[in-house]
Amino acid sequence: MASKQIPESDPDAEEEAVVEIDRVTKRYGSLVAVDDVSIPIRDGEFLTILGPSGAGKTTLLHMIAGFERPTEGEIYIDDQPVSDEPPNKRNIGLVFQSLALFPHMSVKENIAFPLKMRRENPENIDGQIEEVLELVQLPVDYKNKPVGDLSGGQQQRVAFARAIVYEPTLLLLDEPLSSLDKKLREEMRSELTRIHAETDLTIVHVTHNQTEALSMADRIAVINDGELEQLAPAKEIYAEPATPFVAEFIGDTTMLDGTVDRVDGQRATVAVGNDEVAVETDGGVAAGDGVRIALRAEKIALDHRSVDADNAYDATVEQVAFEGDQTQYAITAPSLDAVIDVTHQDPDPETVFDRGDAVAAGWDAADVFVYDQ
Ligand code: ADP
Repeated sequence: MASKQIPESDPDAEEEAVVEIDRVTKRYGSLVAVDDVSIPIRDGEFLTILGPSGAGKTTLLHMIAGFERPTEGEIYIDDQPVSDEPPNKRNIGLVFQSLALFPHMSVKENIAFPLKMRRENPENIDGQIEEVLELVQLPVDYKNKPVGDLSGGQQQRVAFARAIVYEPTLLLLDEPLSSLDKKLREEMRSELTRIHAETDLTIVHVTHNQTEALSMADRIAVINDGELEQLAPAKEIYAEPATPFVAEFIGDTTMLDGTVDRVDGQRATVAVGNDEVAVETDGGVAAGDGVRIALRAEKIALDHRSVDADNAYDATVEQVAFEGDQTQYAITAPSLDAVIDVTHQDPDPETVFDRGDAVAAGWDAADVFVYDQ
């Protein structure tokens, strides 16, 4: 638990949920893949489920889609329990990493497939296809081309078109961008954001990529080991990580273990290594408590001789990665017995340090996240 004032849940959480994941657990034998997870998914939101490999993201998505059944708990779509409903009765659009298009069939035949499965009136199909091609910004005259002749990005657009042409209640995206190269991935990120803004689609997206989550999601559900760690708007996830796992998984973060030495109002002093770190606290910690503290790489100042900060230490530069717009360092601070990651944006040429340089490193008490150990 963090000692800062972090809201337990979002104040708007009671807003209308189109899908309700209600205390869902999934076991495979003795393995608990998803552990008592509750997530209300709001009408029209872009929700990203973020976590490392093996966290239970796909299992959760498969339960929403109907490919897996919860061992305990229930999923409600439009207030109706759906555990007994097969996938094709749930009105959910799906895009997987493997796009699962039919390469020899035309763009039009691929997109028409779910409409035909739903016995849509054939007279309407052409119009629906033209409308959705416009939405995903594919030229209408592409409709007779075989999908196999299109580029990776264009195929991605066909997969989105096929998943949304029948106006599903929910669109599920399972790592849809992870097989694309960096440039195309960035392009498709903004395309997805645009498509979401232009429709009233509710989107649930699964990824292990924090940048993808932070750049696209309205809210992020961070899961680890089958458990929900935090559910909050993307900015809050970054600014106020509720658990050490969230602090460490998102952003470039150094974790240090220590013991609270003394508490003085809003300030506490934590003994780390042979030194101390001043932190801010809301009173949730007492002298003698073991704590974990988290430092964001971009909050750490480095200078030649001294830094103006609540906490300052002598350090040595161990690694440097100059990237033009930013420089990344790993530094050692012997008194803290710690290796600390540091990032400097728009580095001043005067203060780009070299490996082996002796530097002063520091940060403010307010920039430290504190968690019970
Ligand atoms: P993620 O998508 O976050 O990588 P998964 O949902 O695929 O994670 O898996 C969560 C855990 O459940 C993993 O330990 C995985 O090995 C296990 N798991 C997933 N599907 C099955 C299955 N069909 N049978 C047994 N174990 C499974």
